[in-house]
Amino acid sequence: MSFSTLGLSDAILRAVAEQGYTTPTPIQAQAIPAVLNGGDLLAGAQTGTGKTAGFTLPVLQRLSTDTAGAALRNKTSKRPIRALVLTPTRELAAQVEESVRLYGKYTNLNSAVIFGGVGINPQIKLLANGVDILVATPGRLLDHMGQGTVDVSKIEILILDEADRMLDMGFIHDIRKVLAALPPKRQNLLFSATFSDEIKALADRLLNNPAMIEVARRNSTVEVISQKIHPVDRDKKHPMLAHLIKTHDWHQVLVFTRTKHGANKLVEQLGKDGIGAMAIHGNKSQSARTKALAEFKDGSLQVLVATDIAARGIDIDQLPHVVNYDLPNVPEDYVHRIGRTGRAGATGQAVSLVCVDEHQMLKDIEKLIKQTLPRDVIPGFEPDPNAKAQPIQLRSGDRGHQNRGGRPGGARNGGGGQRQPAQQPRAAAPHAPAGNGGQARSAGGGNGQRTGNGQRPSGGNGQRSGNGNRGPRPAAARRGGREG
Ligand code: AMP
Repeated sequence: MSFSTLGLSDAILRAVAEQGYTTPTPIQAQAIPAVLNGGDLLAGAQTGTGKTAGFTLPVLQRLSTDTAGAALRNKTSKRPIRALVLTPTRELAAQVEESVRLYGKYTNLNSAVIFGGVGINPQIKLLANGVDILVATPGRLLDHMGQGTVDVSKIEILILDEADRMLDMGFIHDIRKVLAALPPKRQNLLFSATFSDEIKALADRLLNNPAMIEVARRNSTVEVISQKIHPVDRDKKHPMLAHLIKTHDWHQVLVFTRTKHGANKLVEQLGKDGIGAMAIHGNKSQSARTKALAEFKDGSLQVLVATDIAARGIDIDQLPHVVNYDLPNVPEDYVHRIGRTGRAGATGQAVSLVCVDEHQMLKDIEKLIKQTLPRDVIPGFEPDPNAKAQPIQLRSGDRGHQNRGGRPGGARNGGGGQRQPAQQPRAAAPHAPAGNGGQARSAGGGNGQRTGNGQRPSGGNGQRSGNGNRGPRPAAARRGGREG
């Protein structure tokens, strides 16, 4: 199958060809015709499946060829916002808008991205100029709606991207408020990696007789990624990692730690071993995160240490090595983490350093991915068979209550901009920018434009309590912090 059979205009096909895409991915092959049909869509697809182009291409097609919309644009002095994409995080927002701009470069449509953590005034100006396609995080969109600086009354297409993450991050009230302000007659597209009862309830409310598509989940397509567990004692993880990197001469290693403090400490330790490493997490300045990511991408930085949310926006082709220095609290995050490698058919390697404290987490992960991962004990790092599990504690250095300021709290957090830690919160750091900085049409992620780090208050940092027997948790309680 080729893109030319999908009903896209030459302008869009040209932009797609310039990206070097020859064949639509399964989600694209199914979503593009469905969206072009004009009906609602419920799509199950994760990052890495090509879902962004899956909705962006047909939305561009619909808006650029819709004569009613074009007439509307000619009549009014200002372009009304005709499509709205909501995303959970600012980095995803920036990436999606970058895609809109890329694929839409030969159309007459324009786009903008708005998210929290950066000044609102440039965004106000941008919106005042008129925007066809707006990509936004829910919180900042509501800020604009509250101030009357955005008009959502002409929206024809609404896209909820990574809807499950939005709900996990506690955005349901924000989403409801946005929905209430949209014109009732519109096309709705809901993309989600998972289908919890909450997502189904949202889909029931939002979607009208939707087409349904589900493409292979990452956790069933992870075969291209070689996965291994290295059992190790808790205090031997750092020497083991240094050993692995040095003996295999690994480069471009993305290392996940559970906490920001853990990330900083590891960077310091690796530095002493002569291994170049930098950390990205919410306590780092925007410029430090941008620098670390750029050097990592171009291969000059050997190791990037990241917390889960910080890493979510990272899109690096053919990343060879992912290391779980700590296992994630949420099993799904394991799949998200290792999915950073082995993309687009490339083989990748994901290794997890697992100590006795993490055995229950490992069980949860193996249950999710329906695989028992091979154990590989490294000579010289044999774990003590008598070691006792300890609860994974909140580390003092991670108690990050940054005040993002400047927004009404409303249902979100009682107005103070601070959120109380949920029952079992997890690491919450905004992730690195997606590199759209400085673009004329992007009000969001300007490199060096930011003054603060834009982090939402962290609800905690990966604390686990108890003995590792974790019962089912409400999704909202799993996510400690939010962005946008
Ligand atoms: P996404 O799931 O939207 O985050 O996309 C994952 C990656 O796949 C991005 O880096 C895209 O540039 C790339 N991609 C999207 N569509 C295609 C395609 N048809 N062929 C090859 N790569 C693609």
